[in-house]
Amino acid sequence: MGAIADQKNAGHFLVFLFLWFLAAPALCRQSEPTNSATRSLFAQSAVEILQRNYARSEISYLLLDARSGAVLASHWENSEKPIPLGSLVKPFTALAYAGGHDFRYPIYECKGKASGCWQPQPHGKLDVISAVSVSCNTYFHLLAENVPPEQLATLAQAFGLESPGADSKAADLMGLGPQWRISPLHIVRAYLELYRRKDQPGVSPLIEGMRQSALHGTGAAIGHQLKQTTALVKTGTASCTHASWAPADGFVLALVPAERPEILLFLRIHSVTGAKAAETAGRMLRQMEE
Ligand SMILES: [Zn+2]
Repeated sequence: MGAIADQKNAGHFLVFLFLWFLAAPALCRQSEPTNSATRSLFAQSAVEILQRNYARSEISYLLLDARSGAVLASHWENSEKPIPLGSLVKPFTALAYAGGHDFRYPIYECKGKASGCWQPQPHGKLDVISAVSVSCNTYFHLLAENVPPEQLATLAQAFGLESPGADSKAADLMGLGPQWRISPLHIVRAYLELYRRKDQPGVSPLIEGMRQSALHGTGAAIGHQLKQTTALVKTGTASCTHASWAPADGFVLALVPAERPEILLFLRIHSVTGAKAAETAGRMLRQMEE
């Protein structure tokens, strides 16, 4: 009897070890020291600018140390509560597609309003890099139609994102409509994870798309403001979840500098588009780099 119990205990211990092995990297990342000695000058400046100029504003923001994942500054009520984040989901849907298609992305043609894009004029033929950069709805709608919900659920889990649900349609998977709700804290960590995997198959075109977004895509307002550095940007426009209702809220997420991000800045601005929110983020980042 004793021997059987010992075997059972040993089995439990092995299961415990295995689970710890799985969980330890995530736990360690969260508990890394975040005192000012380990922060870059840029990150310290970012914290000061936000706390001095924006702590009482209506803008919601999260600032993370891009290396450790630590939250450096937060002004976002219920930042753990899932909300619609619009086009912020597109890179993850794209990666789920890539996983089922040999990590190759298609070329699709956008005909503007005629093909359901947010931009009235056609984006024309796009690869995934340009599609991320300009956040083309037509491209991602066609892509999402080829992503089985279970494949997306697996990817969402790997990146710590809420699942869009088994009954989600292509429109939900590209961030149209309020169906796929994600906590702001989860999406910022997922983007840090995406950057961490930049050398894995299928990821580098998404990162390149974010780099181009800041130069001439929906995040161009950030590129225009930055004088000494560059950024990786994704914008989003989603249904407003504020008490005082607006047609939409604008979101923008920026990793700065693009080459080796030190900070991640995520903003939500009431009643504007994502591209408009990028103007505010650009002004903030400009102050931070000075
Ligand atoms: Zn388009």
